[in-house]
Amino acid sequence: MNLNMFKHFFNKRFLLMGVFPKFFSQEEILVELEEMESLVNTYGGQVFALAVQKGERPSQATYLRSGKIQQANDSILKERIDIVVCKDYLKPGQMFTLEKIFNISNPDIQVWDKAFLILHIFDLHATSAAAKLQIKIASLKHMGPRLYGMGYILSDQGGGIGIKGIGETNTEIMRRHWRNEIYSLKNKIKDLEKKRQIMIDRRQKLGLKTVSIIGYTNSGKSTLFNQLSGKKNTVDDKLFVTLDSTSAKLFFTNSRENAILTDTIGFIRNLPPFLIDTFKSTLMESVHSDIILLLIDAADPDIYNKIQTVEKVAYELNLARDKMIYVFNKTDKSDNSKKDELCEKYKFYTPVFISALTGKGISELKRIIEEKLVKQTVRE
Ligand code: GDP
Ligand code: MG
Repeated sequence: MNLNMFKHFFNKRFLLMGVFPKFFSQEEILVELEEMESLVNTYGGQVFALAVQKGERPSQATYLRSGKIQQANDSILKERIDIVVCKDYLKPGQMFTLEKIFNISNPDIQVWDKAFLILHIFDLHATSAAAKLQIKIASLKHMGPRLYGMGYILSDQGGGIGIKGIGETNTEIMRRHWRNEIYSLKNKIKDLEKKRQIMIDRRQKLGLKTVSIIGYTNSGKSTLFNQLSGKKNTVDDKLFVTLDSTSAKLFFTNSRENAILTDTIGFIRNLPPFLIDTFKSTLMESVHSDIILLLIDAADPDIYNKIQTVEKVAYELNLARDKMIYVFNKTDKSDNSKKDELCEKYKFYTPVFISALTGKGISELKRIIEEKLVKQTVRE
């Protein structure tokens, strides 16, 4: 079975479209657009054009209203856009219609919605086969008819059921096929989860410690990962096959202890509820970690809200509180006026203040991780 359901596109040029209700302030619109842009960047793309409409309700047929459609088409041509992504969730019909319309400017144009973008990001970051399967299930469930309509899945099964003329019978065949596929994927996941547990047990027996970095998108996780691990060493030992290239060995100075460090996908605000389970499975590795570094952007004016969001996800993931260290990043550009307050409020989580960019506080962080690991070993 082919687990890679998505063809990934890198360095692609995106147009971001959004229709906002009247009561949205300029500020709120900007926040939402920036959030979407950071998702596009997380995926490895870049936003080159916008199509934003205010004071309207989305059109049933084309999401954007007529004036903007023409303008979007012009931008697609001018900016050589590959993918149009909508900040909302689209209906399959809206996607088809839009793709047809935008075809004039780029015959290969793709129209995605927020969920489809997030699923692509998940797929890209999924480290285990189980996570890949969860993503596939989510895609089948929620994009199923759309994917079939686009001739994605069945095309590799032959049979010629694809983009053209989906009749009543074919639709029924597809539905049945789709349901069967979800069922068999679920069974496969159960098997994989058993195997994963065996792997985790084995690592534990060998005394291999794991540290993972979690946090909001853009908080600096990857920067910290590189800073802590020095060179970006990929681990090629057979035991680590479930970890992908975002894992590296972490060495300490004072003890012979070492650990596996894992970078994770960022938390996403307003994650659509139907994607939460999928999201959890891409973060499963961190659930089993010995230490969880919760990274927070200290320069963020909205810091308390962000921490709350992250804490909520951590709670839903059942992450153990006593494994967590709160790491406040970007202290090079924050005014640090909240430092004392943050220290007091989160003292349970051994707060550390760092700059992943300049390296400030990194050796202190390493020392704290090491201490915590040694303590855990003693307790065991
Ligand atoms: P991730 O999405 O959490 O993996 O975040 P990245 O590591 O990709 O970083 C997001 C952005 O924040 C990048 O532009 C980094 O250069 C920047 N960044 C990360 N750490 C720091 C820091 O300590 N100080 C400053 N000023 N910028 C940082
Ligand atoms: Mg990252």
